[in-house]
Amino acid sequence: MLEEALKLLKKITEHSYDAYIVGGFVRDYILGIESNDIDINTNATPKQIREIFEDSCLPSEDYGSVTVIFKGIRFEITTFRKELTYVNNRKPVEIEYINNLYEDLIRRDFTINTLCMDQDGKIIDMLEGRKDIDKRLICTVGDATSRFKEDALRILRAVRFATILDFNLSKEVIEGIKNTKNLLHNLSYYRKKEELDKIFTSPNYKNGIKLLLELGLDEELEIPNLKKVLDSNTSSLIGIWSILNVTDKYPFNKNELELIEKINLAIKFDNSDPMNLYHYGLYVNSVAAEIKKEDIKPITEKYAKLAIKSKKDIDINSATIMKLLNKAPGKYLKDIYDDLEIKIINNELINDKEEICKYICEKY
Ligand code: ATP
Ligand code: MG
Repeated sequence: MLEEALKLLKKITEHSYDAYIVGGFVRDYILGIESNDIDINTNATPKQIREIFEDSCLPSEDYGSVTVIFKGIRFEITTFRKELTYVNNRKPVEIEYINNLYEDLIRRDFTINTLCMDQDGKIIDMLEGRKDIDKRLICTVGDATSRFKEDALRILRAVRFATILDFNLSKEVIEGIKNTKNLLHNLSYYRKKEELDKIFTSPNYKNGIKLLLELGLDEELEIPNLKKVLDSNTSSLIGIWSILNVTDKYPFNKNELELIEKINLAIKFDNSDPMNLYHYGLYVNSVAAEIKKEDIKPITEKYAKLAIKSKKDIDINSATIMKLLNKAPGKYLKDIYDDLEIKIINNELINDKEEICKYICEKY
């Protein structure tokens, strides 16, 4: 992937523009972390980039950057820029293209995200990013408080990078967050959730949560249950959001909403009960048990032993039942299936066609 990226840089520089890999990829490369997302910056304008890569550009989503598919890989190519005015502590509303790498780097959030790599693989470090990587420290480019005021999302990005990379926040960053954390209210719940999801899915999520609590961000993010996540055994993202219980504010898709609702219901019952296992499934019951800090081993074992996992598994079809009772189709079929289901799950009836037929003839 790096090889292709360097070839892409060469192609741009052959047209006598400057181009570098910048940001996360270089940071992760130095840390020995594999990264699939390569950002390129250049003094060529989006129009000039489109001319170089003709057919391989995707329609632009983001003003000022071009997505190019080069040798089967997707690259985000962004023109050097200055960000002039910010609105609502998020997103610059006005940008200016510039012809200067340094100027482009000082608008970036953290020093560790300002490292560049040129077409020969040489690292360019204008803002001492390398030193901070070695110290495992998150430092803003410039004054922390002003940078967080410009864009409050950077507060969450700081915590996210500290969590994922297992880095520390610099004293200035901690101070800056304390000064500006109330601005998190201005961010959309969608943005906040994106960052929180990245924190919660990190193997280091517990430290991330501790950091959010230490900084008092739970209150600003309106997730008062955050501390309870540390008191639980769940590391599942949906489990964590179930504990946070904020579906009235944060956006979730239909599937997530359904799971969260089921988990919060399942917490109230015995998760190794066969009927609950049958109705809510292994995942919901396991997560509910993890939240309650219960052992999930018996749950897994009992689930594996369930005689049926769904109605479809019942060893008889409607045609056989109708023939057996000599009746036309009707609502009674559903009643029989409901009855069979309960009997089989509770091991009061064996899931075997002959046994089921015998039972139906006796009872109906
Ligand atoms: P990753 O891709 O691993 O999430 P990244 O550092 O590449 O991390 P991106 O969101 O892809 O993050 O952004 C690319 C680069 O753009 C960053 O490295 C940083 O230099 C800059 N950047 C991104 N978001 C901001 C921001 N809110 N404020 C300032 N600079 C930013
Ligand atoms: Mg990136």
